[in-house]
Amino acid sequence: MKSLYGKFIAFTIVIMLGSGILAFLSVNTYYHRQLKGQNDVKNTHIAESMAAYISSAKNIDVNNYLETQAAAGYKLYVVDENKQANYYGASFREENLSEKAVEQVLAGENYHGMKNLPSETFVTGFFSDELANTVGVPFEYEGKRYALYLRPDIKLLFTEVHYLLGGMVLVMAIASLLSMLIVAKKLIEPITELTAATKMVGKEQFTGTLDIQRQDEIGQLANSFQVMTERLGENDRIRKEFISDVSHDFQSPLLNIKGYAELLMDKELLEVDRVSYAKVIQSETERLSLLTKQLLLLTSLDQLVSPLQIKSFRLDDQLQEVIRKYRWLLVEKELSLSMEIDEVIMQGDPAFLEKVWENLLTNALKYTEVGGAIEIELTKFTNEVVVKISDNGIGIDDQSLARIFDRFYRADDSRTQEIGGTGLGLSIVQQVVTLHRGSIEVQHNGNKGTIFTVKLPIL
Ligand code: ADP
Repeated sequence: MKSLYGKFIAFTIVIMLGSGILAFLSVNTYYHRQLKGQNDVKNTHIAESMAAYISSAKNIDVNNYLETQAAAGYKLYVVDENKQANYYGASFREENLSEKAVEQVLAGENYHGMKNLPSETFVTGFFSDELANTVGVPFEYEGKRYALYLRPDIKLLFTEVHYLLGGMVLVMAIASLLSMLIVAKKLIEPITELTAATKMVGKEQFTGTLDIQRQDEIGQLANSFQVMTERLGENDRIRKEFISDVSHDFQSPLLNIKGYAELLMDKELLEVDRVSYAKVIQSETERLSLLTKQLLLLTSLDQLVSPLQIKSFRLDDQLQEVIRKYRWLLVEKELSLSMEIDEVIMQGDPAFLEKVWENLLTNALKYTEVGGAIEIELTKFTNEVVVKISDNGIGIDDQSLARIFDRFYRADDSRTQEIGGTGLGLSIVQQVVTLHRGSIEVQHNGNKGTIFTVKLPIL
């Protein structure tokens, strides 16, 4: 039985049969332990009153009397001292009364076959239609000794109420079985739909939507599956876009290098052109090298396990060091720099955080025209530090502002394009800041330039 539906039905039937057997066994055990004795006493009383009536009566038709009693719901067996036997009422299924039991009653003792019926698990005590499962009493009539054996005739005793109850149980059993079939089908339908959807995801098709509107666990599973599929689809789109961006960004410098290398092969090339072509090759090679380093860095940041190696260090010292490294550019572009730096000891990965400050500062330097101004602030609060890097450079238009943290995104204006870059720096910055459980924001600096604000918790 492979399908869940088949298993469900099989289990239901097994459970119904199992509970039926269990109910039978417990009722039968209860009869053997509890009711058997009481039944024996009750029936002995009835038999005794019949015997007393016959013994005390004169000139009655005993056969007729016993027939009437049998018709009232009993099976009777009468043996006289000459072992002449007579049955009244329906016959017994098994006539297994022992010789000894007959002798015992003819000798004046009562026989308690009901009480002494052996307790067998699968033998129905109450219903066991045997001559041995009777009570026996002696009586005398017209000077002759008799033994009277009696047990209720179960078939006659079965009244309309019993049939009604039996019918009710049967209807209940059939109705519950049919309802289980419908419920099982309804329960399993969404699972079948989910299975089909997982197969689609397995084939990298992330576009399907599930039509499962339920509030229960299966509904929750379907919802989570839908969210997961959408995420996978989004990741798949990003991955494909990323690969195409990477190939494009590698392709253009490689084409430039190839083209200028071919030009360099011209023996009659002027010295100035040769130097200029070699410079293009050099700068394109540097660009490729930077691109490779940044891609490697991004890959390490993308790992599931955080690559951070957290240490305690002086953030103010690190910032000063980065500024020192790029001071020559400040001088070259005649940029003014103002700083307000608090002393901060923080927990973080100094190597990755250095990349953050380097990127933000080099961007400010790159995108600010000669003679511009840059401001750097490091402010310490109780639970966090705030680093602000502002410039009054070319600024970022509103449309680009929302996208500058995207991988490979570069503002589409001619000034940015002239300056050159990979479009990976800010996505690295954002990822490092997020890994430190911090945040980064960008805004216009008045009507000229840009402000980047990084907030980091002091871990
Ligand atoms: P890039 O290598 O191009 O500088 P980034 O990811 O560092 O890549 O920056 C993405 C884009 O954001 C840049 O191409 C530029 O358009 C814009 N940008 C970043 N910083 C500044 C800034 N300080 N002033 C103006 N534009 C900026």
